[in-house]
Amino acid sequence: MLLDTVPSVCPHDCPSACALEVERIDRSTIGRIRGAAANDYTAGVICAKVARYAERVHHPDRLMKPLLRTGPKGSTQFKEIAWDEALDRVAGAFAEATAKHGAETVWPYYFAGTMGLVNRDGINRLRNVMGYSRQDANICTTVVRAGWIAGMGDVKGTDPREMAKADLIIMWGGNPVSTQVNVMTHVARARKERGAHFVVVDPYRTPSAEAADEHVMVRPGTDGAVAAAMMHVLFRDGHADRAYMARFAENVAELEAHLKPRTPQWAEAISGVPAAQIEALAKRYGETQRAYIRVGYGFARSRNGPMQVHAVACLPTVGGKWQYEGGGALWKVDGYYKVDKSLIEATDRLDPSTRVLDMSRIGPVLTGEDAVVCQGPPVTAMLIQNTNPVAVAPDTGRVLKGFNRDDLFVAVHEQFLTETARHADVVLPATTFLEHADLYTAGGHPHLEVHDAVIDAPGECRSNHRLLNELTLKLGGDHPSCHMNEAELLDATLRRSGYPGFAEMVERRWLDIGPKEEADRRFANGFPTPSGKFRFRADWSALGPSGAGIEGFPDHVDIVDRATGDKPFRMVTAPARNYLNTSFTETATSKKREGRPTVMLHPDAAAELDVEEGARVRLGNGQGSVVLHARLFDGVQKGTVIVESVWPNAAFEEGVGINLLTSADSPPPMGGAVFHDTAVWVRKA
Ligand code: SF4
Repeated sequence: MLLDTVPSVCPHDCPSACALEVERIDRSTIGRIRGAAANDYTAGVICAKVARYAERVHHPDRLMKPLLRTGPKGSTQFKEIAWDEALDRVAGAFAEATAKHGAETVWPYYFAGTMGLVNRDGINRLRNVMGYSRQDANICTTVVRAGWIAGMGDVKGTDPREMAKADLIIMWGGNPVSTQVNVMTHVARARKERGAHFVVVDPYRTPSAEAADEHVMVRPGTDGAVAAAMMHVLFRDGHADRAYMARFAENVAELEAHLKPRTPQWAEAISGVPAAQIEALAKRYGETQRAYIRVGYGFARSRNGPMQVHAVACLPTVGGKWQYEGGGALWKVDGYYKVDKSLIEATDRLDPSTRVLDMSRIGPVLTGEDAVVCQGPPVTAMLIQNTNPVAVAPDTGRVLKGFNRDDLFVAVHEQFLTETARHADVVLPATTFLEHADLYTAGGHPHLEVHDAVIDAPGECRSNHRLLNELTLKLGGDHPSCHMNEAELLDATLRRSGYPGFAEMVERRWLDIGPKEEADRRFANGFPTPSGKFRFRADWSALGPSGAGIEGFPDHVDIVDRATGDKPFRMVTAPARNYLNTSFTETATSKKREGRPTVMLHPDAAAELDVEEGARVRLGNGQGSVVLHARLFDGVQKGTVIVESVWPNAAFEEGVGINLLTSADSPPPMGGAVFHDTAVWVRKA
């Protein structure tokens, strides 16, 4: 019998941060989860994997007690221990490592397993108080952010709800049907009410491309060429809005001259997209005032990703689309939030001279090959929350070599015994979002959201916040926020940010923080750059030293892992619909729906390799090789292969997953991860 329905917020690493309604059966049990109909972005719709969250939160494999490893690293041999002993062991190991190598030898490591600011970012409080190594948290957004701010100046754009008022929507480098279903709600409105044309630009025919009116099937890493050629057509055919650019853009004449040779034929040779399709799309874009570009992440996960994002972000300024309701572009809305995280992260205790280690290069960091770690002590102790680097970080070979070091102590605070947890010395059971309170700044829509716990924590699970406070105090550190519970910390954080306090926010559920006045929308009074104008010429070197010497105008910047005779395929490891990184890989329904690790291969390529549907094939490069099963698929170019991810390593025949092949190279100008920029060979296994 249903007790009641309780509001909450989806904490997973997804821009939607859906407002939820959770059926509560009793204080320990939930039923179905639904999207909040009253939230005008969620609009009552959530993805299937979260709707069936009872399967995850009440999973028999949930960690319930602290564990001490008794077998080799990577095994499942652990014994239960008491929390006091677990905390003593972690604190003791951190203190011993610090005494031997200095505080920077300890590296707290985290990412976005929860997007709640208290339970995600609180690990920085421990770090700052204790002087431990910092983390460049660059594995996801940095490559997009660099390209976006290069032109725009800040992470702002057209409100996503305006998509419903567009006549042309281009989803560039994203697959919202699988990964952010709410985008499709607003696309559907525009199609139904206005007959909007929906275009998807993606290397393969994703479920979103299937649902679209048009699919632009681009070769991975060549979107910049397509965008540049579209702008060539806009200038050539009188669709460039010169009056708008005169007011709101820098270097217009130089851009026009730069684009002269970048014809659709030039772009076809690079991208494989037919010149006629580029011409037609540019014409449609040029003739449509209410043209909305929704920028995804996929095409940014490349060595030239920031340059590709910048090229696409130039389009609405050339076309003057920002002037019209339903026009412009959006990646994220982060620039509208003003959350003061100083208490959560103890930023008053940050020593800016502390070294920063690159999370995407955790493999080279742990094997001592990374340049930064070479200049100081090795990493010999870690606390890991909210991420599973043994499966999700690039270059799994090095990551595993690092985690298997005898002189590395690892504590993992987790909900399940992930492959990273299996390499830990001490494993600590963590709450899910249903069992703690938190605060969220959605990336894909402008709602600040807060929720309280829905059910009691099962077993001996403790929240990230509680663990961090207990560990910090045990280590002899202190900070005012170490003496606050979640509600108190949330209340203080909200109030010092100028928002209502915790109790009021729980009652209100969300606050729409998007610009209310027309004059504040879509950069109506200029862009947040020093000149107030959009920058067609990106200054990559200003964003990071590795940006020096890279072309600033929108272009195809050919610095990718090129296909060669030895490695003739370009591989994209796109997100699987039923997984979110490795979250949900433990649930039976998600596993059943995904099947097995599979490579999508064009039938012509398969014929040349003598590979049949369902056959075992081996993919490899200089980092190693993995075995998968082939799916013959004509929704991809002949030289591209797609491996939907992230499967656990254990799902692969030889026990190591697809990130064995992805590189930990750092892309210019600000670093990040290049998951979709991998050249591979394919053979019959
Ligand atoms: S669409 Fe994204 S935010 Fe919404 S429920 Fe699914 S994973 Fe969570």
